[in-house]
Amino acid sequence: MEIKSVGIVGAGQMGNGIAHVMALAGYDVLLNDINQDSLDAAMARIDKNMERQVSRSLISAEDKANGLLRIKTTLALPDLGQTDLVIEAAAEREEIKDKIFDTLLPHLQPHTILTSNTSSISITRLASRTDRPEKFMGFHFMNPVPLMKLVELIRGIATDEETYKACHDIVTRLDKTAASAEDFPAFIVNRILIPMINEACYTLYEGVGNVASIDNAMKLGANHPMGPLELADFIGLDTCLAIMNVLHEGLADTKYRPCPLLTKYVEAGWLGRKTKRGFYDYRGEAPVPTR
Ligand code: NAD
Repeated sequence: MEIKSVGIVGAGQMGNGIAHVMALAGYDVLLNDINQDSLDAAMARIDKNMERQVSRSLISAEDKANGLLRIKTTLALPDLGQTDLVIEAAAEREEIKDKIFDTLLPHLQPHTILTSNTSSISITRLASRTDRPEKFMGFHFMNPVPLMKLVELIRGIATDEETYKACHDIVTRLDKTAASAEDFPAFIVNRILIPMINEACYTLYEGVGNVASIDNAMKLGANHPMGPLELADFIGLDTCLAIMNVLHEGLADTKYRPCPLLTKYVEAGWLGRKTKRGFYDYRGEAPVPTR
């Protein structure tokens, strides 16, 4: 089955990145969000990120212009019913995702593949509430989407081979590499990465180190390109907490209990870069550690 058009739900940091790479690969993209400001911000971000690629000679000015022309935006979710593939990339809350699929289902064409970019929620469970569990998959991009080479593909228990192959072919066309993961909480990358970030939060919470020493220790001592707290701010502390909760509940093991300090930052609305404050304060010229 040939996929020509892609509908993306949620124009946040992941949604705009997915729209960016899909448009450059030649797919027609319809990007949806619940508010116009998010859609406008996403288009401005895509323009800026593509411009950076032009300045580095990674793409031509013509590629950029054509790419931008392929992206349309809409506030009306049912408009995505005309597309061949839908990628849901809204907030990491199961009730939000369920509601999106409920609204969308009556408008979908029979052949349309439904996917979610969820970092941790069960694909089988999301699929079971739709009319097409065999055409439902996890399509999990990494952040920032234009730079990261990996896409995790997660089959639900009912996903058919044709759907898997269609998604795999898209990953190849995006010049990325697919990793197949089984449908268990947080899949592969986040199952390993997010508990490490949570442990960095405990290290901070218990006063073993401060924000700067923890990040420097992991950069210089483990050769990580970013410290775990810097990375948490980049991912979004709400997303990190949501994934820890899914691991904690899904695997019923206390080793996954979310750090109370991470919860406190989320309660404060200090969600990282996207709200300009998290483990670092981004409101000035240079990031300043908050602890
Ligand atoms: P984000 O907060 O940056 O963006 C979410 C967007 O969804 C917002 O613009 C919001 O307005 C929109 N939204 C909320 N409810 C909606 C609805 N009902 N209909 C349409 N749009 C709606 O979040 P994000 O970081 O882009 O994460 C999105 C998804 O991608 C989550 O499931 C997350 O787990 C997953 N993910 C995130 C990362 C990461 O590093 N941030 C990586 C991989 C996957």
